[in-house]
Amino acid sequence: MAIERTFSIIKPDATKGNHTGGINAMIEAAGLRIVAQKRVKWKLADAKKFYAVHAKRPFFKDLVKFMVSGPVVVQVLEGNDAVKKYRDIMGATNPKEAAAGTIRATFAKSIDENSVHGSDSIENAKKEIKQNFKAKEIVG
Ligand code: ADP
Ligand code: MG
Repeated sequence: MAIERTFSIIKPDATKGNHTGGINAMIEAAGLRIVAQKRVKWKLADAKKFYAVHAKRPFFKDLVKFMVSGPVVVQVLEGNDAVKKYRDIMGATNPKEAAAGTIRATFAKSIDENSVHGSDSIENAKKEIKQNFKAKEIVG
């Protein structure tokens, strides 16, 4: 398995609920290393750009509104098979369908307020990391 990097967001429901540390503990317990991290408040344009792939979906407007409703913590995670590993520990998009012990089963309230984002491919991870971090902010 190759060492990869993936992009993560701790979403506004989770920063509001003070779950940043709890989520980070689960990330580290899974063997992923947090090699970059910052807490930021997105503007509407940031959320629209990040989720542009979902622009035509019926939930898009609520999604971008939610993503600017409070601070987010953006992260780069590094480790073996990081993209898939993080998707596995995040759990299903809908927390009601997420396996027990996953981040979303533990912390998320609903499909729209589901605590975390993780890249779904190596290609998208590269794109999302570049969009959110300068190279010198990532220290592996
Ligand atoms: P994931 O975050 O698991 O990769 P998607 O990429 O399909 O899921 O969707 C992006 C985000 O949009 C989800 O995490 C969730 O916050 C929101 N979302 C997806 N589907 C719905 C839906 N049916 N209703 C409301 N929000 C949704
Ligand atoms: Mg996705």
